[in-house]
Amino acid sequence: MNSNIEIKHIEKSKIDTVDFNNLPFGSVYSDHMLTCTFKDGKWQDAVVEPFAPISLDPSAKIFHYGQSIFEGMKAYKDADGNTLLFRPLDNCKRLNKSAERLVIPQIPEETFMNGLKALLKVDDAWIPTKEGSSLYIRPFMFASGNGFHASPADEYKFMICTAPSGAYFAGKVKVLIEEKYARAANGGVGFAKAGGNYAAQFYPTQLAIEKGYNQVIWTDDNTHEYIEEAGAMNIFIRINDTLITSPTNDRILDGITRKSIIQIAKDLGINVEVRKISVTEVIAAAKSGELKEMFGAGTAAVISPIAGFGFQENDYDLPELEKPYAALLKKTITDIQTNKAEDPYGWRVQL
Ligand SMILES: *Cc1c(COP(=O)(O)O)cnc(C)c1O
Repeated sequence: MNSNIEIKHIEKSKIDTVDFNNLPFGSVYSDHMLTCTFKDGKWQDAVVEPFAPISLDPSAKIFHYGQSIFEGMKAYKDADGNTLLFRPLDNCKRLNKSAERLVIPQIPEETFMNGLKALLKVDDAWIPTKEGSSLYIRPFMFASGNGFHASPADEYKFMICTAPSGAYFAGKVKVLIEEKYARAANGGVGFAKAGGNYAAQFYPTQLAIEKGYNQVIWTDDNTHEYIEEAGAMNIFIRINDTLITSPTNDRILDGITRKSIIQIAKDLGINVEVRKISVTEVIAAAKSGELKEMFGAGTAAVISPIAGFGFQENDYDLPELEKPYAALLKKTITDIQTNKAEDPYGWRVQL
C-alpha cells in the first residue's frame, strides 16, 4: 500500500523568485506538496504535485467541526549536502496520537515517511544551506468529507507542505503569566497538536500583546497556580543551577524538543527536575535572585529565551547571564541536528 508515489512535476520552478538570504518563517512555500486521500475506508496512493490551492466542498467537516491536526518538523543540509531530519518517526507517532483523539484515521508510518522522503527529494533545492535556516515541514490531516451532521467525516486528507525558513524569533521575549484563560483542560485535547488549540490561544494572546507582552505563559486550567507552557512551546525554568519543566499530561503537548533537551541537559551534567512548578515558587525565586532563566522549547525556534515576565500588575526581569543554559542547550541540539556534532542518541536521520 502506498508504495507507488506518483510525482507530478511543476512546469516551472519558483525557486528563482526566492531570496534565500532573507527568508521569513513559514510563508514562502516550496514547489511541491504531498497529498494522500482517505476514502472508501482506506488511504489511497499518495501524490507529489505542484503546491497549489485545493478545492473543498463548503460542507467539508473541517470547516464546521474542526477535525484538523498538524505537525512541525525541519530538514537541514549538512556541510556535505546531505539532507537530515530530526527524530521524524516521533512526529509520525504524535500525529497518530492526535488523530486518535480527533477520530481521524491513523496514517501508516510508511506512508508518512515515504511521502516525506519523496517530497524532500523532489524539492531538494529548496532546503536552505545558510546557518540558522532550515526547511520547515508541515504535515497535516483534516476532514475533507462533507455533511452538516455532527459526526466524524468519511473522507480525510493527509498533506505535507514545506517552507524554506530563516530563524523563528528575534528579540527579547516578554511573557505574561495567564490567570484567567486556559489553552487546555483535563480530559480535553491539549496534548494533541490540534488546530483548535491554537484558535483558542489567539484571543488571550492578543490581550497580552495589547498589554505590551509577546506571549502568554499558560497555567493549569483548574487553579492557574502551575506553569505549563509558553505560548505554543514547552517551558523550562532555571532556579539556581536546576532546570525545571512540568511533566506532560492531558493539557501539555509532549514536545520532541522538550524531551531532547531534558536528555541533553542531563548528559551535560545539569540537574534536571521534571515536576510541577508553581507561579508562587517562580515569583519567590525572582524576588530572591535565584531565578536565572526561563525559555520556551519547540521545533520552530528550538529555544526561545524569555527576558522577563508579568504577573498581577508587576513585571519581573530575568538577569542577563554570560553563559546561559539556553544558549548551551540550543547549540548542542542544533549541532546534532545539522551534523556538526556526533549524535550519540541516534536522533538524526539522513535521507
Ligand atoms: C508543537 C508544540 C510544542 C513543541 O513541540 P516540538 O515537538 O518540540 O516541536 C509545544 N507546545 C505546543 C502547544 C505545541 O503545539
